[in-house]
Amino acid sequence: MMITQLETITTHGEGRKGRRHDIRRPKPGSNGRSSHTPAPVMFAEDVFTLETMSARLPAEILASLKDTIHRGKRLDPTIVGPVADAMKAWALERGATHYCHWFQPLTGGTAEKHEALSISNGHGGELSSFSLSNLLQGEPDASSFPSGGLRATSKARGYTVWDPASPAFISRVGNTATLCIPTAFISWTGESLDKKTPLLRSMEALSKQAMRILRIFGSDTGVSRVVTSLGVEQEYFLVDESAYQNRPDLAVCGRTVFGAPSPKDQQLSDHYFGVIPERIRAFMAEVERELTRLGVPIATRHNEVAPGQYEIAPLFENTNVACDHQMIIMETLSHVAARHGMRALLHEKPFAGINGSGKHNNWSMCTDTGTNLLDPGENAHENLQFLVFLTAVIAAVEENAAILRGSIASAGNDHRLGANEAPPAIMSIFLGDALSDLVGQIERGSLNSTPASGSLDVGAAILPTLERHSGDRNRTSPFAFTGNKFEFRAVGASMTCAWPNTVLNTIVADQLERIATALELAIKDNTTKIMMERVVGAILQELISKHKRVIFDGDNYDPQWHDEAERRGLPNNRHTASALAAFNKPAVARMFDRHGVMTPQELDARIAVLAENYATQLRIEADTMLQLGRTRIAPAAYAHLNRIGNAVENSLSAGLNADRRSRALRTISERLDKFEDSLAMLEIMTQQSTDSTPTQNANWCARELRAAMQRVRTCADALEVVVDEREWPLASYRELLFTR
Ligand code: ADP
Ligand code: MG
Repeated sequence: MMITQLETITTHGEGRKGRRHDIRRPKPGSNGRSSHTPAPVMFAEDVFTLETMSARLPAEILASLKDTIHRGKRLDPTIVGPVADAMKAWALERGATHYCHWFQPLTGGTAEKHEALSISNGHGGELSSFSLSNLLQGEPDASSFPSGGLRATSKARGYTVWDPASPAFISRVGNTATLCIPTAFISWTGESLDKKTPLLRSMEALSKQAMRILRIFGSDTGVSRVVTSLGVEQEYFLVDESAYQNRPDLAVCGRTVFGAPSPKDQQLSDHYFGVIPERIRAFMAEVERELTRLGVPIATRHNEVAPGQYEIAPLFENTNVACDHQMIIMETLSHVAARHGMRALLHEKPFAGINGSGKHNNWSMCTDTGTNLLDPGENAHENLQFLVFLTAVIAAVEENAAILRGSIASAGNDHRLGANEAPPAIMSIFLGDALSDLVGQIERGSLNSTPASGSLDVGAAILPTLERHSGDRNRTSPFAFTGNKFEFRAVGASMTCAWPNTVLNTIVADQLERIATALELAIKDNTTKIMMERVVGAILQELISKHKRVIFDGDNYDPQWHDEAERRGLPNNRHTASALAAFNKPAVARMFDRHGVMTPQELDARIAVLAENYATQLRIEADTMLQLGRTRIAPAAYAHLNRIGNAVENSLSAGLNADRRSRALRTISERLDKFEDSLAMLEIMTQQSTDSTPTQNANWCARELRAAMQRVRTCADALEVVVDEREWPLASYRELLFTR
């Protein structure tokens, strides 16, 4: 039952006590082939769970905290002191020396400032000690984080505020142990400066509207709120440290800005789900062990499509906790890879020409009593409440396709969306046969059957007969219904999921609000069941007719879909600059404001930060190209040119035919000329002044700078294939991709 998973896993790891993960831990710095068996770890042993608290705090304090965590009640300030004392004692017992407020500023990463948990005076007392006020709030310099204009540099006050819904945990790096307290981050004037605050607000907004729907259907008994659930599949690459060291572009940009294809990459599809190599398996086992300790319920590991590419996926949890855990997963992948002599690449497109990495955002809505509101059940056509929630999602995605696309826009993800491995930038919904049939029935105004799923005879007598799902899967769709949840596949691998989920929750809340208002007006106390069915049917019929153009069950990678989508009028914003522009509409700002998720100023600021980040990222990449082009690639090409030049001269002076050598000389010389021309052009572009708005600048980068960078890359890659490989100054794709 879903809630069991949610209750036990999401909120402080209760109910999983004693689950042991007996995983081998390699010696630090080893290649992971160590043979000693590490001590087993317990699930959430480094998390200050409710269970841990229950042994340390009076029952009434625990009950009050549970009311806040599980039912969204306002935090009782009088319990903060005792919780802080218990937290400090627990952290010291577990070897922590410092604590930090752990938050997610608009950089897209996490931030932490460490303070000592306790400073002894040398005589049994304490000079300073972690207490109530340290748990409740902190004050980092808000002016040093991106604020999109919300904070002037001279206005530095900002607060981190304890988020009791996400449990504190101990981060162990090297031989240090730090108590991390998840917090929200807001300015002195109360605006959100992080990714978490709007997410929490969006969850409340959705809960408020979903509860209205439940009340209408009389299914709200015992339900205090509706939460959104999230399970995120994370793709990543692993490369050997030695090859990485020979790739300054990976270190600075997170992706290779140069690189000719490896003769073999993913053509044979032999890596996907293949046997996981021993070294990688040892790495994964250690990652899982670390995450087990931190209460992150990891379930899945496998090889992905590209060589060197892998996936890790936890069980789903409440969205806010899942988003925090996502950040912990990314950090853990990076730390542990270093211990195994490797680097984890989380960029959306580290290598051109092969698959990039995404983050599949599996999302649903669930009551706190355990009903998954997107579960159609056996007789979906009779499950009007399910059809309301389903229709709300369809309408939300259709009406807000452009901002949903905008919510996953970044320089990295632009390489993925629309390339062959990722759904295009056109937002559409895959429903599958059964739901498409139901939606057709709604539109025709006659709901009378749910298509049966049936069974599947495999054809060999010894193999069991299978229960078939009611619909096939479609891996090309950006937003696919997968049985009892939607999978938003277009999220980028390096992103925090908080922002796309904030947008998703808000747009769905907005539709639920409209449906609830219409239903509340139409339904009176004396409305019979038949009348109710008619009213709901009519509202859904209208909504489906209006929004059905977003439903597409075909192949989203097919170029014809692009034409078809254009005919349907669906937005297709191919790059971040145009994708972000979708947020600059008054109606969008009003929606976020009305649901209490973000004020227009907060939204503007966020979009400005994203636009600026995009432009800055591209400029860093352009500068990296210039630097590597001038100081590594051109010198290597000149050395090779000279060597061939000598060969030509030697051949001629020996009276030999030098035609072939001369042709080789001409080839490399021409390619070098083109490369240097392209570099010169890029340099001129990077020197242009940028005294424009973040949006104008982003647009310029998208249109002009990217084209100049692409030209440099094409020219460099053309040189790589003719220069002596042993002299080539960057690790090749072959070396990077085949880490064993
Ligand atoms: P696949 O690769 O086949 O899409 P995975 O097993 O790799 O599937 O990942 C599916 C993810 O969806 C897991 O994280 C799982 O916990 C999550 N999930 C399952 N049910 C729900 C739900 N109701 N709400 C949110 N996420 C869910
Ligand atoms: Mg998966």
